[in-house]
Amino acid sequence: MRYVVALDQGTTSSRAVVIDETGCAVASHSNEYTQNYPKPGWVEHDPYDIYYSQLGALKIAVQKAGIDGEQIAAIGITNQRETTLLWEKDSGRPVCNAIVWQCRRTASYVERLKEQGLDPLIREKTGLIPDAYFCATKLQWIFDNVPGARERAERGELLFGTVDSWLVWNLTKEHVHVSDVTNASRTMLFNIHTMDWDEELLRLFQIPRSILPRVCDSSGVVSYLNEEILGRAIPIASMAGDQQSALFGQACYQEGMVKPTYGTGGSMLMNTGSAPKNSQNGMLSTVAWRIGGKTCYALEGSIFVAGAAVQWLRDELGLIRTAAQSEEIALSVPDSAGVYVVPAFTGLGAPYWDMYGRGAIVGLTRGAGRAQLVRATLEAIAFQTSDVVRAMEQDSGMPLSQLRVDGGASANNFLMQFQADILGIEVVRPKIVETTALGAAYLAGLAVGVWEDQGQIAALWQDERRFVPAMEEEQRQHRLRQWKRAVERAAGWAKDPLE
Ligand code: ADP
Repeated sequence: MRYVVALDQGTTSSRAVVIDETGCAVASHSNEYTQNYPKPGWVEHDPYDIYYSQLGALKIAVQKAGIDGEQIAAIGITNQRETTLLWEKDSGRPVCNAIVWQCRRTASYVERLKEQGLDPLIREKTGLIPDAYFCATKLQWIFDNVPGARERAERGELLFGTVDSWLVWNLTKEHVHVSDVTNASRTMLFNIHTMDWDEELLRLFQIPRSILPRVCDSSGVVSYLNEEILGRAIPIASMAGDQQSALFGQACYQEGMVKPTYGTGGSMLMNTGSAPKNSQNGMLSTVAWRIGGKTCYALEGSIFVAGAAVQWLRDELGLIRTAAQSEEIALSVPDSAGVYVVPAFTGLGAPYWDMYGRGAIVGLTRGAGRAQLVRATLEAIAFQTSDVVRAMEQDSGMPLSQLRVDGGASANNFLMQFQADILGIEVVRPKIVETTALGAAYLAGLAVGVWEDQGQIAALWQDERRFVPAMEEEQRQHRLRQWKRAVERAAGWAKDPLE
């Protein structure tokens, strides 16, 4: 039996998962690490925390699996995207902390780009809607604020990378400086049409080309693990951003297949095939993966609050003790009694894009209580997902036939059934919901021949449960209309602050 180890470097923890040839996870280990919040809205990681928590997870997971380096055919990497690092070429020392994707410190940089009318140019080239999430303005900030960084970068002394690059650089003896197309596509410096760093954008953001990593396929041997780590120079054979990796792990290989992740927030990716699609509805156009030089693209839509709404029920309202309890409470009543919860705690994401939207509960009557509120909150997660799905269908011109779900809240059977009902589309939950790690393992195994082709991997994908739409059409339309009306009431709420 041969194994592939996936390194899943996430925002709050670093995880390693040992996966066998049948696509089963045989062992895993996770290490949480420190989040740094130096100012309100700022988020940083110590680059060494990222690396050492990941290295530790790798060693322990392999130990738990009871295998050695000889049995590991390949290592795959998947990672939190957009988090930005800059380090010294000679010593490997970071010039500052990693600026995490969530960090809002460059919001004003993005405002300026928009004022300069650069929005359409950036969208056209990168597929992204300009935002502080992406690396370009984070790098600009470092050059503006870390003494000497710009000059040193211009002299070729510094290297930039997303987390994938940072890990590979540290995990290899000869310190290879690479990234993959999915991670590159989140920098706001990469042209998703030419599939190369974009000269015009580099000039615009004043980024010297010498600091940029070589961009590789998502599947392919980029280098070998330093043999001191596990006693063998194991091929490092894949790199992919976490959402893209999950799309691959869900075996969404056909155009039009969609993977919604119900985590703290929600993230939906749709495979759009060999050409990027321009979104008219606030979706990002991004690279899904590149294998053997062939690029597959995706549309991506985000929901700010998904599972977080369940945490709100638990932590702020005290209506449930555990997230899982929300299912039983929702099912204790026949319906939500006309109550709608719009969890727009931080505004409304796609397809509304209203940063002034705020949360609302509407339709309350005297009989509406705890169970109805819990039920309406779970329904809201499905309504928001449905909005994104419909927008994606419009953008892609592809009607969906199935959703392959994952993420913590996909464990909720009520939520999944309601999702199927409100969309009129079958919802399928796979046996293995660790799809992010699985994707990285598949991409790596594919490169070294553990699996022959994507068809073989797709055959490994197994459903655990299917949720078939059962709601009457009339009822469905009514519920969707009421949801829209509830959203209208939450929209723009924070536009009149007391100042
Ligand atoms: P992330 O990767 O964003 O940290 P996870 O995929 O681990 O998130 O999912 C965690 C989220 O899922 C939490 O917000 C939690 O409230 C929610 N969650 C977990 N289990 C359930 C459940 N049974 N029903 C509803 N929500 C759940």
